Amino acid sequence: MSDDDLKWGHSTVDTVCPLDCPDACSLEVTVEKGKLVKIDGSETQSTTSGYICGKVRQFDRRVYGDKRLLTPLIRDGRQGEFKRASWDDALALVTRRMREIRDRDGAEAVLPFSYGGSNGLLTQDTIDARLFRQFGASRLARTVCAMPTSTANEALYGKMPGVSYADYRHARLIVVWGANPSSTGIHLVPHIKAAQEAGAALVVIDPRRTNLARQADVHLPLRPGTDVVIALSIHRFLFEQGLADETFLETHTVGADRLRRRAEEWTFERASEVAGVDQELLENIAELYAEISPAVIRCGWGLERNRNGGNAALSVLALPAVAGKFGVRGGGYSMSNSTAWRLDAERWIDTPPPETRTINMNKLGEALLDYRDPPVQMLFVYNCNPVATMPNQNRVIEGLQRDDLFTVVFDQVMTDTALLADVILPATTFLESYDVVRGYGTGNVLMGRPVIDAVGQSRPNVEVFSELAQRLELPCGAEETTDVETLLQVGMTLPDELRAPLLENGFAPGPAGENPVQFVDVQPRTPDEKVHLFPEHLDQESPQGLYRYRPAAEEEAYPLTLISPATEKTINSSLGELRTRAASLQMHPNDANRRGLSTGDTVRIFNALGEVHTPVTINSDMRPGTVGLPKGLWRMSTLNGATANALVSDELTDLGGGAVFNDARVEVTRVVNVNLDRENLQTWATDNAGQVH
Ligand code: SF4
Repeated sequence: MSDDDLKWGHSTVDTVCPLDCPDACSLEVTVEKGKLVKIDGSETQSTTSGYICGKVRQFDRRVYGDKRLLTPLIRDGRQGEFKRASWDDALALVTRRMREIRDRDGAEAVLPFSYGGSNGLLTQDTIDARLFRQFGASRLARTVCAMPTSTANEALYGKMPGVSYADYRHARLIVVWGANPSSTGIHLVPHIKAAQEAGAALVVIDPRRTNLARQADVHLPLRPGTDVVIALSIHRFLFEQGLADETFLETHTVGADRLRRRAEEWTFERASEVAGVDQELLENIAELYAEISPAVIRCGWGLERNRNGGNAALSVLALPAVAGKFGVRGGGYSMSNSTAWRLDAERWIDTPPPETRTINMNKLGEALLDYRDPPVQMLFVYNCNPVATMPNQNRVIEGLQRDDLFTVVFDQVMTDTALLADVILPATTFLESYDVVRGYGTGNVLMGRPVIDAVGQSRPNVEVFSELAQRLELPCGAEETTDVETLLQVGMTLPDELRAPLLENGFAPGPAGENPVQFVDVQPRTPDEKVHLFPEHLDQESPQGLYRYRPAAEEEAYPLTLISPATEKTINSSLGELRTRAASLQMHPNDANRRGLSTGDTVRIFNALGEVHTPVTINSDMRPGTVGLPKGLWRMSTLNGATANALVSDELTDLGGGAVFNDARVEVTRVVNVNLDRENLQTWATDNAGQVH
């Protein structure tokens, strides 16, 4: 298809969704006279089955929305006020400040900050990584999501590829643990339903009664942060009752005895008391899991976002090994499948990391406000909106308001973080540039193609980082490169059996096919191909040791636990700009009655870190004692410009240095002057939309 066809004709183009969602849908996008008219799923990969979520079906609202960044902007006066600039002026300013900071404070005073705005291989960790490494910037530990689960999966199984969505149809027991596929990873849901129709039992372990929990045979509404004790009590039961698969343990695992000993203290009675669940329900789940095969566990990311998150993931993922659930279609576990192809980004980054300090992204507020030697003087944000996504939001904002900090934001839309920037650079969306995308629900890899011309003056990541490298006279800037050239460069480092179908058809299935059976088609990728049930190095890393539980610090003043689950409206914070109404706090009727609250009341949710004002919705699907605000809210989505992350500490999980989003302790009261707060929503949103002179 020629460029003119794309621009002026009516055409349909195949591409892929790279957003931070497990499914990596293959897309069919219709373009008329150069504009998007329809985005839908295609049949290119079977997981997509021709349909996609509502978020991406309406992605044109981001592409052409009023928050879209169309030109570079440079701060003009107060924060939030900007003037338009040429690319030349904007990049000249960024380059000058980078040089000045390096000469004065050292290159480590520059902190690149990126995470998950795209799962594309080109948009992150290509030229950007080379540039910041060669410059000698501080390194970033990207730990805000999936590090505890990833650490557990790597240690136990070397990240063996998991059970595919399609193979859930073969399971006779499905356990969905800490995941809500109706909101994230929607393509799993029809397979679960098909399995249920064929007689499979469904267990959902989640503090909330989610859509799937409503249709489950057993729903265990556990206290947030107690998944580890639930899983350990099932281990104890399996070992004690002689239901552990000793042959499998003997042949395929090491460390089972140590796991058995650590699980011994977790009787059903004790675990159900700690987790606040009905003991009979727990026993029922353990019996189902022991008796039924094939049984599959969908391990989600909800269970990792607390002080015990790493041990929770480890205990849950160890269950199929102890119970002997592998070796049959529909049996085993699913975690992330992004590693089905073992792609090594270092091969295409091709520049070793410098010996500079590493900053955990969950500690951004602390890094900006407290770090010395040198202090962070430049923050370069891309593929990320840290004001909306990082813990301890008030500290992050305070840090970004420092007079002496120079902040660059390279993004598609005017985010909460961009509003606090000194220079804003407009980025293309995935519909305007090339990429290579692998999902983490499937092991497939797909090619992303531009469907429309870049909107406004937006540019792809690789082009901008390439030009910056050139202006900084770094070795990687010797030749300016484009996204299509980078695509070919990355392609050269891919295994032949992946590169050929990818470049020819835009699609390559996982190396063991789309539906590998664990311990038949794929084996653990640990050095000895065994399951390491007691990884010693993690026993040292975890503050409480492996397979151990840390209780929450009791705080009388803050009796409720706040969780912030993903919703069907945003992908992390992406598309948060499209929310039009204030988000509601979800609260169980018992908690509401105790506080005299009704649906629609404006409430103040608070703890020692901050407060959020927003309406409350009384919802019997919540667990008593647990309240919920959506993940990824933008500041305009509450009445006082603060979100759940203003109440979340920047302490880290037991393994992997993750964030403890579901560990916030809060109290909730009614806001008396409701009218004032309702007016504030309008005023706040208008005052904080940013102004371009
Ligand atoms: S966000 Fe997920 S479900 Fe939606 S189109 Fe993208 S990959 Fe598919």
